[in-house]
Amino acid sequence: MISGLAIVLAAFVAMEAVSYLTHRFVMHGFGFGLHKSHHVNRDGGFEMNDLYPMMFSSVAILSFTAGTFSPVLRPLVLVGSGITLYGVAYLFVHEIYIHRRIWSLEHRYRVLEWMKASHRIHHLFGGEPFGMLLPIVPRALRQRAAAVPYEPDADVRVARRPGTSRPAAA
Ligand SMILES: [Zn+2]
Ligand SMILES: [Zn+2]
Repeated sequence: MISGLAIVLAAFVAMEAVSYLTHRFVMHGFGFGLHKSHHVNRDGGFEMNDLYPMMFSSVAILSFTAGTFSPVLRPLVLVGSGITLYGVAYLFVHEIYIHRRIWSLEHRYRVLEWMKASHRIHHLFGGEPFGMLLPIVPRALRQRAAAVPYEPDADVRVARRPGTSRPAAA
């Protein structure tokens, strides 16, 4: 039981690293064509970028399938559970709390406000932080962002020309 929970937790934590690396090197790299839709102002509806969570969920589905198929692979069900829980957390933090895509929450939570303020910096400059639940922002970027007026009740998205969110190095 304990080891099962440890596998779920490990998969959850690992997903933050996977999502950081994917966001940084794929979504802001060769896969920017799909991610670009998330870096422009828009209201409601789906965006091309939503294909990314679908790809992540297909990894969870494959884990569940393989883990159910063979007793040897059973721990993959726990891995799939950790991936799914991360997806739920990401949906809540990024889509609902930060971007208010499904509904707006009235209540403000300190830790979520910290994630939101950090994610705003990603939208401002198209660079760090690429992580979501554990966003690490370089001090210089935080200072640069402090000069840009922040409206806590507005979406943190910033309208910009397509392509300008892509770091020059990518
Ligand atoms: Zn991005
Ligand atoms: Zn965002």
